[in-house]
Amino acid sequence: MLKRKMALFKLLGFTVSVDASWGIILFLVVWSLSKSFFPSYFPGLSIQTYWIMGVAGAIGLFISIIIHEFSHSLVARNYGMKIKGITLFIFGGVAEMKDEPNTPKSEFLMAIAGPIASFILSIFFSGLYQIAETMKSPVPVIAILSYLSTINLLIAVFNMIPAFPTDGGRVLRSILWWIKGDIHWATQIASRISLMFAVVIIFTGFMNMVGDNSIGGLWWILIGSFLFFAANASYQKLLIKESFEGKTVRHFMNPRPVTVPSYITLQEFVDMYLYRYHYKMFPVVQNGKISGLITVQMLKLHTHEEWKHLLVGQVMQQQNPSNSIAANTSIDDALNKMNESGFTRLLVVEHNKVVGIITLKDLLEYIALKMELEPIP
Ligand SMILES: [Zn+2]
Repeated sequence: MLKRKMALFKLLGFTVSVDASWGIILFLVVWSLSKSFFPSYFPGLSIQTYWIMGVAGAIGLFISIIIHEFSHSLVARNYGMKIKGITLFIFGGVAEMKDEPNTPKSEFLMAIAGPIASFILSIFFSGLYQIAETMKSPVPVIAILSYLSTINLLIAVFNMIPAFPTDGGRVLRSILWWIKGDIHWATQIASRISLMFAVVIIFTGFMNMVGDNSIGGLWWILIGSFLFFAANASYQKLLIKESFEGKTVRHFMNPRPVTVPSYITLQEFVDMYLYRYHYKMFPVVQNGKISGLITVQMLKLHTHEEWKHLLVGQVMQQQNPSNSIAANTSIDDALNKMNESGFTRLLVVEHNKVVGIITLKDLLEYIALKMELEPIP
């Protein structure tokens, strides 16, 4: 989900980006404000005015969410957690943390900072609304301020729903973690409670859809589905993290991969190696040592006619920092590297020598085996 994002600006050292899903949400926000919220609470204005109010309201919402996320990020940074940046996406925003909080207290304070900021914003806009009312300001101004006060209160309340990984879920987890001193147990309980909430929210959405409130219902279903997948994902993430704790690339590499000599043709490579072993990447041996790799993708760049005379050594990719990784790298960092570069198969290097290969597939199979043999209690 975080792959299709676009950087917007930098503030206080944090890069603010938007996810592609925000386009859809922005449209939904403007649309539901102009078509439903403003006309029903502030009737009698022109269609054009409602659209302008919708856009202004959406911009106000956008700024409010950024302030909410900045509060999380500033507290997190205060506790020494690295923040990669802030990304606005479907359910609002996320402050992307590089590491997880390491004490219940830091998690609690970091999580609660967002809803507190939204709550303060709500009071702030409510104050402006009162002033605008007494000064008899134009209806659109009053309407937008009233909307921003309400929406910030809703953001604060919604985020305090104890459905991990929302702020409320994190608050809940930090309290559970503090009580028993066990983050694994705390995550498990918080995730279960979150799944329950997600199901209830999706169900409420369907009831609204069946009833008369189709736009409202759609929101409930969107939010519920997001919570459902996110709750599952955060628990799995913890399991994966625990499974790989303290392990390095060396543990999982294949020290004796099937290698291909550089002097054979692509056609010979396809017949003798590719169709025989079905791997997607093979290290290439040149002058007695592994010096590069060849993948299925590289074959696709050439015609079948060219396969007959081109040599593996001519099309292979030389070993370089982007396609290789040091043997003592932690699995966590290896997964990050695979995720960021898109290369799911890497050459493993030790003392400037290729000593094996590591693949995402092997890591995933290990996790699958572990989950089969050590099921979640
Ligand atoms: Zn938050």
